Amino acid sequence: MQTLSTRGRIALLVIVSALPALGLSIYNGLERWSQAELSAREDLKRLAALAARQQEETVESVRQLLFTVAKTADSLAREPKACQEFFKRLVTASGGLYHSMGVHGTDGTLICDAVSWQDTVNVNDRRYFRLAAQTRKFSIGDYQVGRATGLKGINFGFPVVDGEEKLLGVVFAALNLAKLNELTARTPLPQGGRLTVLDQNGIILARQPLEAELIGERARNPRIIEALRKKKDYLFEADDTDGVRHLFAMERVGVNPDGGVPIYVLAGVPRQIIHTDSNKALFQTIAGIAAATLLLMLGAWYGAEIAVLRKLRALLGMTNRIRSGDLAARTHFPHGEEELSRLGHALDDMAQELQRRDAELKQALRELSEQVITDPLTGLHNRRYLWDFLARELLRARRAVLPVAAILFDIDHFKRFNDTWGHEAGDLVLKSVAGVVKQNVRGSDIACRYGGEEFIVILSEATLTVAIERAEKIRRGIQHMELVCEGKALGPVTASFGIALYPTHARDEETLLRAADQALYLAKQGGRNRVHVYHAAPSSF
Ligand code: GH3
Ligand code: MG
Ligand code: MG
Repeated sequence: MQTLSTRGRIALLVIVSALPALGLSIYNGLERWSQAELSAREDLKRLAALAARQQEETVESVRQLLFTVAKTADSLAREPKACQEFFKRLVTASGGLYHSMGVHGTDGTLICDAVSWQDTVNVNDRRYFRLAAQTRKFSIGDYQVGRATGLKGINFGFPVVDGEEKLLGVVFAALNLAKLNELTARTPLPQGGRLTVLDQNGIILARQPLEAELIGERARNPRIIEALRKKKDYLFEADDTDGVRHLFAMERVGVNPDGGVPIYVLAGVPRQIIHTDSNKALFQTIAGIAAATLLLMLGAWYGAEIAVLRKLRALLGMTNRIRSGDLAARTHFPHGEEELSRLGHALDDMAQELQRRDAELKQALRELSEQVITDPLTGLHNRRYLWDFLARELLRARRAVLPVAAILFDIDHFKRFNDTWGHEAGDLVLKSVAGVVKQNVRGSDIACRYGGEEFIVILSEATLTVAIERAEKIRRGIQHMELVCEGKALGPVTASFGIALYPTHARDEETLLRAADQALYLAKQGGRNRVHVYHAAPSSF
């Protein structure tokens, strides 16, 4: 979370907001899924019941036919030819529903049937015969291939009895499985559904949709075989012959006199189909939520760019500029009431205030530095500045091989002004002399108050002649001042000048000033109010 960008956080927020909707849809999807499961089970049970009823109708029609036939069978059995004709007609009239019909004696031998059969056929091992003979009731047999016909079918038997219930024989009908399959096909099936009719041993009698090769085969899945022994309405899951997982509902068809169930109907739907709709709906909902989330994320992505990130970047850029010292940096956000705009404006105001204070500080610093290097009485530079300046100037002059002249001068008998007219008069003289000096310096030169009433002028790149000329000008300027203090004329002021030249007379600032001082001393010695150039004694350097 710490390392996640603002965009990442917004995206996360969108995803988190989509979670409840997603959870709800999954919950609904599961509800729908179990609903589908429930209704599929109900539908399947109904389908199995319907199919069972239809099968029962077929069985019932066989039973009624045999019941009727059994009444005349005894007399027919005595006339084999007529008997065969009779059954032939019945088989033909059934339109292929039966592939054979006939009558057996009490020992199971075939007395007569619809098919002309020369060999002796005995059926006393067949279930339908045994049950009908023993119980004197309508009985249903197992899947069998007719011994006389070689056709696949299932046989039904009905006892032939006399007035005293004495068994005379058993009439039978072999139901053609091809026809049974046709009848089974009348049961309407749902999409993907299938119907299997089995005998009590699990042999497939009919199948819809028809898979002819399976008719007469035993259902392979042991679960199906196991289901045959279970109670009514039995629902179970198993792989069908094609290996596809199915949900099955099992129903019984008819009951034999011994209590055994002769026929079963198995209705099945593939597991997958049951949930196709609910899965599709769930998928659509989830896809819809995902698409909406994606759209929201896109919106948030660009929305964040427009509403937040641009401003955040501008704020960050601006604060970085301020940090690096650019106090003119501003966000220039348009006026707005939302938080980022207000933050931008607050930062702009802060930067403006910082800039103003910075300017004030710089100004104060400038003034302070000026004060530090300025003599307060005369407004000329002070001695501290002189040394700094001279050091720099001589360095430059040394590199460029240029001369630097120093004119040092001292007011003559200055003490007298103080003593005669007072300290204020002395200050006036000092200020007036400074005024003359200021008029006689160029941009590249500097003038300093060197001591009490001593001044110095440094001329860059000046020859001795120029320095002498300038000193003379100042000297004359001072001499010609007419000073009046508190209404009293102070009388003439003069000054004595000493000039020294770098590099001619000195190798550094100290020796230069010392040389100028020596020249000044000689000017005082020489009678004052004059200019004297340093003249080195041969032993000086
Ligand atoms: P010389 O011709 O030999 O230079 O004599 P002088 O009187 O000028 O020299 P001296 O060094 O004896 O006197 C300098 C006087 O300058 C002493 C001091 O009271 C005075 N002085 C120094 N600074 C100031 C100042 O700022 N204002 C006033 N009014 N007087 C000052
Ligand atoms: Mg002095
Ligand atoms: Mg003096």
